[in-house]
Amino acid sequence: MKDTARVIVTYDCPRSCPNCCNEHIGNVPAVNFEDLLKYKELVITGGEPMMIGARVVEMIHRIRQSGYAGKIWLYTAELNVQRWADKMVLQEVDGITYTFHYEYSQRDITLLKRLTGHIKELNKTGGLNSRSFRLLIDRRLEKEIDWKDIKIPGVWDEVRLLKWKDDECPLPDNEELIYYDLERE
Ligand code: SF4
Repeated sequence: MKDTARVIVTYDCPRSCPNCCNEHIGNVPAVNFEDLLKYKELVITGGEPMMIGARVVEMIHRIRQSGYAGKIWLYTAELNVQRWADKMVLQEVDGITYTFHYEYSQRDITLLKRLTGHIKELNKTGGLNSRSFRLLIDRRLEKEIDWKDIKIPGVWDEVRLLKWKDDECPLPDNEELIYYDLERE
């Protein structure tokens, strides 16, 4: 068993990125709640986990109430800080990795600007101290979008331009992929 579990909590996603990793992953072992607690770190992913944001909040609360002391991270491409659950998730996780995909809409830009502004405000009051925020941007968009309200110093711990994958999506050596069906729990 590896130290970190990358936990697919739903395969649903409002996007349809060409060559989505989930097309390559094959059969992912399904686990129950107790299995989650055996890992040192959990990375919540999908699909798009924030399509079921309230359930993600419940899941994290349940994990913490079970005495779990490991880190919990979230991978998402859509976080809407005008929704209660999304704001709550920001408070509960140790960090997020937010991916801005090539096929985007004006709404995606608006959501990311709002999220950036929200993190900036909370940082001023110390509300999100010790959390880590990483922004991954499809590098084809580097010059297409005005990033001035997004790439704000002191907000994102890391902003990285990504080359979109044309092949499979290997996991880091210390991670394993599991499926926890949060929609049915
Ligand atoms: S956002 Fe992620 S899960 Fe959804 S289609 Fe794109 S790569 Fe796949």
